[in-house]
Amino acid sequence: MCGIFGIFNHKYASNMVYLGLHALQHRGQESSGIAVSGTNGIVSHRAMGLVSDVYTGELIKKLSGTSAIGHVRYSTSGTTSLSNAQPLVVEYSHGSLAIAHNGNLINASILRQKLEVKGSIFQSTTDSEVIIHLMAISKKKNTVDRLIEALKKVNGSYSLLILTDSELIAARDPYGIRPLVLGKLKDSYVVSSESCAFDLIGAEYEREINPGEILLITAQGSESFYPFKEVKQKNCVFEYIYFARPDSIVFGRSVYLVRKALGMELAKETHVDADMVIPIPDSGIGAAIGYAQQVNLPFELGLIRNHYVGRTFIEPEERIRHFGVKLKLNPVSEAVKGKRIIVIDDSIVRATTGRKVIKMLKECGAKEIHFRVSSPPVTHPCFYGIDTPTRKELIASSHDLKEIRKYMGTDTLEYLSVEGMMRALMKTGAHAGYTFCDACFTGKYPLRFPCQMTLDEVESIAKRKKVVDPRKPYIIVDTRRSN
Ligand code: 5GP
Ligand code: SF4
Ligand code: MG
Repeated sequence: MCGIFGIFNHKYASNMVYLGLHALQHRGQESSGIAVSGTNGIVSHRAMGLVSDVYTGELIKKLSGTSAIGHVRYSTSGTTSLSNAQPLVVEYSHGSLAIAHNGNLINASILRQKLEVKGSIFQSTTDSEVIIHLMAISKKKNTVDRLIEALKKVNGSYSLLILTDSELIAARDPYGIRPLVLGKLKDSYVVSSESCAFDLIGAEYEREINPGEILLITAQGSESFYPFKEVKQKNCVFEYIYFARPDSIVFGRSVYLVRKALGMELAKETHVDADMVIPIPDSGIGAAIGYAQQVNLPFELGLIRNHYVGRTFIEPEERIRHFGVKLKLNPVSEAVKGKRIIVIDDSIVRATTGRKVIKMLKECGAKEIHFRVSSPPVTHPCFYGIDTPTRKELIASSHDLKEIRKYMGTDTLEYLSVEGMMRALMKTGAHAGYTFCDACFTGKYPLRFPCQMTLDEVESIAKRKKVVDPRKPYIIVDTRRSN
């Protein structure tokens, strides 16, 4: 999960990117970077930490130029370190090049091996760097053709921004797994993971960058290329459920309205008699509003979130995560005491959040707790750029509803069905034939693993090679002949 933002032709390009990254901070808190193209080629700054901590006014001033791209990162591939922060910037035979990538390339390890044999020297362990090296060895005459040649070799999800001395290029994989939107700010072009960043800088939302589109922006204007074979698009359904901000338009629809619709379907499928509906804030709010409206029950704030701590899931250490729930959420005793409560969350991953919340609510005297989840059970890891854990850590991959309910200590537990989720998506404007990736709920991965491996094979190779996290195919070196 990452956020990317770019602007072309603006006097204060780096300032705008800085603001854009602020709006995208929810997509990654580990590191952040800005690369700007000015009279001295491309200059950049990257650092670990939150956008508000990384940049100062002085620094932004130094990043002078009229086009810029930026990135906020939550690592899904490669280790946590500054060398993996983006934008990655290189000087190659055709000038300067910076790249910001959201997604995950599932054949990156094989490509990297091949490139290293041929003499490429990598500066990071991220999958994104493979694209740069593939572009560097291309014999094509212009940047777009070099990029097309590189992208034809990669397999996986990408929403990309590429900055050169005179161009900004936005690209999206043929499946359109991760979002990317285009906007206009007077004479400037803006591109962002989510439209909420446009609202902040006063830019107008124009459209999505289409799946499989490569959009070249230069001083002469913009031009679209569609070099890939058309495939059925597979927008990530989890963007709606959890990742994107509710005030964003993602894949052409309002995230807020989809979340509400998910809550409504959840109510239709799983309602029980109760006194009130409360969300686990912030991610459960949209669905809880939809649920409460559907069944005409009061929507109450039974839990208050401390906004000055990051998302608990973000902290990689198990210990910190456990502590995190308490740091983040506190029940309102007066609201919940003696009440029968429907608690809504957007998803259950490891079930640590729900378990702690239920314990806190019970300690405050809640009479009954009916836990409702506005997405189906997460049973499979994501290989396309989102940090859902390995199968082992996903509670629903190895436990049934009864066991999870018991572990969480809730009186009842129900999830939204896959069909209910699809109904909510269709009701909020998906046209016929619109398709989503829902692999973390169904195991139906739209893209093949490296060398056509199955998930079982990927996991067993990872185990044999002692790779801690098989979602990082970057380090799974396949032993079979690659094709
Ligand atoms: P759990 O405590 O069950 O492991 O995680 C569930 C909570 O984490 C939910 O409240 C949900 O909003 C959030 N969440 C779900 N999936 C993800 C994810 O992939 N990444 C992050 N950062 N948070 C998630
Ligand atoms: Fe999104 Fe899940 Fe598909 Fe990953 S596996 S792209 S999180 S729907
Ligand atoms: Mg949450």
